[in-house]
Amino acid sequence: MGNTTAILQDSFGRQHNYLRISLIEKCNLRCTYCMPEEGVMLTPREQLMTAKEIIAIARIFVENGVDKIRLTGGEPLLRKDFSEIAAALSELPVRLSITTNAILVDRYLEDFKKYRIWDINASLDTLKTDKFRTITKRDQFHRAFNNINKLIEEDFNVKLNVVLMNNFNQEEITDFIALTQDRKLSVRFIEFMPFDGNQWNKSKLVSEREILDRANAFFGESRVERLPNEKNFTARNYQVSGFKGNFGIISSVTNPFCDSCNRIRLTANGTIKNCLFSNNETNLLETFRNGGKIEPLIQNLLLKKKAVRAGMNTSEKLENPENHSNNRSMITIGG
Ligand code: SAM
Ligand code: SF4
Repeated sequence: MGNTTAILQDSFGRQHNYLRISLIEKCNLRCTYCMPEEGVMLTPREQLMTAKEIIAIARIFVENGVDKIRLTGGEPLLRKDFSEIAAALSELPVRLSITTNAILVDRYLEDFKKYRIWDINASLDTLKTDKFRTITKRDQFHRAFNNINKLIEEDFNVKLNVVLMNNFNQEEITDFIALTQDRKLSVRFIEFMPFDGNQWNKSKLVSEREILDRANAFFGESRVERLPNEKNFTARNYQVSGFKGNFGIISSVTNPFCDSCNRIRLTANGTIKNCLFSNNETNLLETFRNGGKIEPLIQNLLLKKKAVRAGMNTSEKLENPENHSNNRSMITIGG
């Protein structure tokens, strides 16, 4: 846990040393679980953070103890001034990372190295071209997959985010784990989470038990080993013995990891969120532009943070669509 000032602490003593910045609301894919079919209302350009504003606001977080920043989106690599932002953030005393759909990664390999972005989460939900087209509405599987392999070859720390959905990709669980045999890669199976307009339904969830049962049946139970938890863990991790990489399970729906949450989110329009599932937001950008202090706004919002999933502490509450209708779609939060 970092040494944050009181501004980044919540009423449960959690310290928020990890800032996730969404750089852009736009994306070059259309993942059905992430954005509503009709698209999202984009914020007018003048209300989005400029590169300079992102950097200045990030610096305030860092002065208060943030030591880890993840760039996300939409698709962060679509931002024309990505390199300028990465360069400036790399001057701060933080560990920089990114979450990307990998489509544009080949254009940025040198920037990643130059700006020390070694931790890369790449999202890929299927290894089949036709299914990739179904879920993303774009024909870009090979580009994404080749780029992910490039990242691994170039020795980046790559985590592959796989959102599992029943009757869509659960048959591919063991194919994904097989990728870790000769690749230094962490595959992370993510439970499909409910957000505004994403047609979430409990029956689409694939449980941790099912993932392990499939892994045990295919690779042999005695070979599937549990790994120790990481600090501020979000995934329970496993490894098939003898494999170079590993796999993990992120079960935000059935088994949330809120106790160790250290994350705060800044959206592309300069709003902070204290939880992925919360519709309670505070606009920092307006105050920042008017020359006001944003620290009290950050502190106030964190003091309102609930113990578990924005107060949805039971599965009934999480399953109630009304509790998500005022929240953003994932594409404008950033994961
Ligand atoms: N475009 C980038 C990408 O896809 O990696 C970054 C933004 S995306 C919103 C960040 C992560 O959120 C992705 O790994 C994506 O799979 C995940 N995600 C989006 N919607 C989700 C949902 N409903 N449930 C679980 N994960 C979701
Ligand atoms: Fe775009 Fe990422 Fe959302 Fe897919 S998950 S639509 S790639 S932002």
